[in-house]
Amino acid sequence: MKWKLAARSEKMNPSVLREILKVAERPGIISLAGGLPSPRTFPISAFAQACAQVLDVNGEAALQYAASEGYGPLREAVAHMLPWDVDPAQVLITTGSQQGLDLVAKVLLDPGSKVLVETPTYLGALQAFSPMEPDPVSVASDAEGVLPDDLRAKAAGSDARFIYLLPNFQNPTGRTMSEARRAAVVDAARQVGLPIVEDNPYGELWFDQPPPLPLTARHPQGCIYLGSFSKVLAPGLRLGFLVAPKSVFPKLLQAKQAADLHSPIFNQRMVHAVMQDGFLDRHVPTIRALYKHQRDVMVDALQQEMKGMDVEFNKPDGGMFLWLRLPQGIDTVALLPKAVERGVAFVPGAPFYADGGDPRTLRLSFVTASEEQIRQAIAALADAIREQLAH
Ligand code: PMP
Repeated sequence: MKWKLAARSEKMNPSVLREILKVAERPGIISLAGGLPSPRTFPISAFAQACAQVLDVNGEAALQYAASEGYGPLREAVAHMLPWDVDPAQVLITTGSQQGLDLVAKVLLDPGSKVLVETPTYLGALQAFSPMEPDPVSVASDAEGVLPDDLRAKAAGSDARFIYLLPNFQNPTGRTMSEARRAAVVDAARQVGLPIVEDNPYGELWFDQPPPLPLTARHPQGCIYLGSFSKVLAPGLRLGFLVAPKSVFPKLLQAKQAADLHSPIFNQRMVHAVMQDGFLDRHVPTIRALYKHQRDVMVDALQQEMKGMDVEFNKPDGGMFLWLRLPQGIDTVALLPKAVERGVAFVPGAPFYADGGDPRTLRLSFVTASEEQIRQAIAALADAIREQLAH
């Protein structure tokens, strides 16, 4: 049987990341490639308790179909948790924030629509947008994110539908927008009438001080905000949320209804039960402390192992990722098999660029490997770079 596929399926490609992760799962490989939170942070006993409680209190409702908007008390808890005035009626519970990206794309993008993105940006967002066949446009960015002047220039006269921004501990670079940059970006977007889609799955994972207020808090009518329980509780729950202005909320809700009717109500009720009595206020600081230590170990290993090589890397203020730029002449796609031979996997930076990547860049996760593995992996990476430079 010859199946005739929709044109949009042409745009769906296996994630480069997934292919790399397959390699990284081989025995003996230390993977700094994945975007997985540390399983040590998963609050298993709190979920065991919540599970029993949810089934005890109202097992029938927990196992029945439910409202597409999400579980009311969870929507209220989300609205309450956010640092600006959010009406629970504006909160849509999603099946991970990845679904938020899919819904936003379905509701806002036509074939050929321009969508502005950071340089580089989250690969999963490019994947979520691409079946709608938009035209992604990279906005020039520095260590603090997009440059407001280039945002203005790219948005002017382009009929761009929105700009997709990750102000906190960005995936893939780990960078964060300063207070001044946030103000300037919101001003620029407001000035040119460009909506913002703000993705913030890592904002709670700060190390020394909380990041500045979200963009949405400054301009709620011009922003759709995406949040997630994946990094503060567990990604296997597949629960996230979006906050949207009243003008677009109904369409996002209709798209959600068509996609999966609702996110698993059992999980929603469990998360709500787990969140009672300030649980996150006790739990999240333990994740911050672990990840901060892991970051310090990786930065220290990089400082020692990359000495004398022209390798640039940042020291992220939170999140899970660190970004490297290797010496001239190195292509990290070609470097990867050499690194894997030496027992370490990373993600090359190029796939994270919407239009033409910097082949010298790569992403490292500092959260899942042990301290000893991080040191071993960075030494192996340095060896692979040295070998590549010698050729
Ligand atoms: N946005 C960003 C920037 C991410 O890094 C991720 C997870 N890798 C997601 C969204 C999706 O997360 P989830 O669907 O688990 O909430």
